[in-house]
Amino acid sequence: MENRNFIRTIIEEDVKAKKHDRIATRFPPEPNGFLHLGHARSIIMNYTLAKDFQGTFNLRFDDTNPLKEDTLFIEAIKEDITWLQCPWDELFYASDYFDEMYARAHRLIDQGLAYVCDLSAEQIKETRGDLKTPGTPSPYRNRSIEENKALFIAMKEGQFPDGARVLRAKIDMASPNMNLRDPVLYRIQHAYHFNTKDAWCIYPMYDFAHPLEDAIEGITHSLCSLEFEDHRPLYDWCVQHTQMPKVPRQIEFGKLRIANEIMGKRYIKQLVDNGVVSGWDDPRLVTLSGLRKRGIPPQAIHQFIQALGLPKSQGETELEMLFEATRDVLGTAAPRVHAILDPIKVTLINHPGTLEPLDVPFHKDNEALGSRNLPFGPTLYIEREDFIEEKPNKKWKRWALGIEVRLMHAYFIKAESVVKNDRGEIVEIKATYDVLTKSGSDFNERKPNGTIHFVEASTAVPITVHLYDSLLLPDHDKDAPLESKLNPQSLVTLQGVIEPHLEGVTTPQVQFTRLGYFKRDEQDESVYHRIVPLKSSFK
Ligand code: ATP
Ligand code: MG
Repeated sequence: MENRNFIRTIIEEDVKAKKHDRIATRFPPEPNGFLHLGHARSIIMNYTLAKDFQGTFNLRFDDTNPLKEDTLFIEAIKEDITWLQCPWDELFYASDYFDEMYARAHRLIDQGLAYVCDLSAEQIKETRGDLKTPGTPSPYRNRSIEENKALFIAMKEGQFPDGARVLRAKIDMASPNMNLRDPVLYRIQHAYHFNTKDAWCIYPMYDFAHPLEDAIEGITHSLCSLEFEDHRPLYDWCVQHTQMPKVPRQIEFGKLRIANEIMGKRYIKQLVDNGVVSGWDDPRLVTLSGLRKRGIPPQAIHQFIQALGLPKSQGETELEMLFEATRDVLGTAAPRVHAILDPIKVTLINHPGTLEPLDVPFHKDNEALGSRNLPFGPTLYIEREDFIEEKPNKKWKRWALGIEVRLMHAYFIKAESVVKNDRGEIVEIKATYDVLTKSGSDFNERKPNGTIHFVEASTAVPITVHLYDSLLLPDHDKDAPLESKLNPQSLVTLQGVIEPHLEGVTTPQVQFTRLGYFKRDEQDESVYHRIVPLKSSFK
């Protein structure tokens, strides 16, 4: 039951009862930051529900707070939703409805359901009461309709400074629901708005604006996160008393929370502002731009979100689930190439010297990806950790002195001796190869100790590789200062090499054989980001 999409059930029933001509949903971000994985739940659910019922899905910028909003965020949000492959049918700005909202606020005043209040924000807070005590009515609560109209018009015309007056709904100062104790509907804010410029100096509050926005657009099912459950009576009140012809229904769902990850615009902004990360698109963040830069495919996000369903409650999810979905999506789709992250040189002392191009498919189970020439020659690089001087035990399935392993797609090699530097570190392995053992031949006289991969040295292309891990230490103390919670290993940068001739690779994501899935950086071809290792390290 937990993972069932209960909103789907509600919509199904509404469709059966022919309640609406068509289903309409929307995603209503405030353009004050970048989107994160939590928003993906809202976007994907709103989008797929609309599409599954042949309905419409709007993108609406909830731009009613001019001080915090910026066109930079508008563009970033549009880019993220497009990337997520949830195309909107129509794009709206709440600020385009300011005239209508203002007119609807007048209707409330006309019915004696709203009044201009001269109390300061502080005084309003103080007189709201609490769960045990009813609020104290404002001394301005019983202003006449005429006076309220005149004052509201004067507010709009800019006759008062910021904070001097507000428009409040006249509902119930003793309501057990604090949101109904004469909530503020409009505030004075002499601020430039990126869309409406200097046209307005009063701006509607979220609780008034949001239901009207939904109603104006004919949204049928207005999905929002659980913290708005207590606001629903006010949502319904606003739609009803402003006499909106179309009545949307608010339905709450549980927010997505990811264990040990920083989500929530406010907190991510701190990391960006303090330089803890390189920007909103730092691949260690769970922002959509960060996940994109890291190489997480949008299909993996869909798979992850759909698998979780839309629970009403707010459980914590492991990011590892998204990584599993990523492996699932990239498993057969990503070409497999050879790269070495920590190279050590191997010299084949019995090799004649000319390079041999090996014809190797990009993926053994996906022929459509084609094949490439993988160079093989007398000087190679292998991973340092694939070699040890003395085979330690039977479990060691890699290379050691006197031991034979297969070079993937090539030949058996046997380590004969090592060259060390002054510090005693191995800098080169001298080896022989057996020309009879070419991969694909029917040679089966000996069994190699294991299979390792390689990159031919003279054609190897240098790359910079970024390995990512969680920004926060796994068992950090939640209340500790941020610096002490940070994982010093969250970004490790290595200088490696990759095989040449990757022109045939059309996907940005590749598998580095035996190492993991990586994404080539969009700006710099010599930079790769590790998306995920091949296997989960999650316990
Ligand atoms: P944040 O919590 O990061 O500050 P927000 O709630 O301020 O985000 P909005 O732009 O107001 O962001 O939200 C747009 C929509 O995304 C809202 O409908 C909100 O309920 C939804 N949303 C935000 N965070 C989550 C989350 N973690 N899980 C699911 N939906 C979310
Ligand atoms: Mg919010």
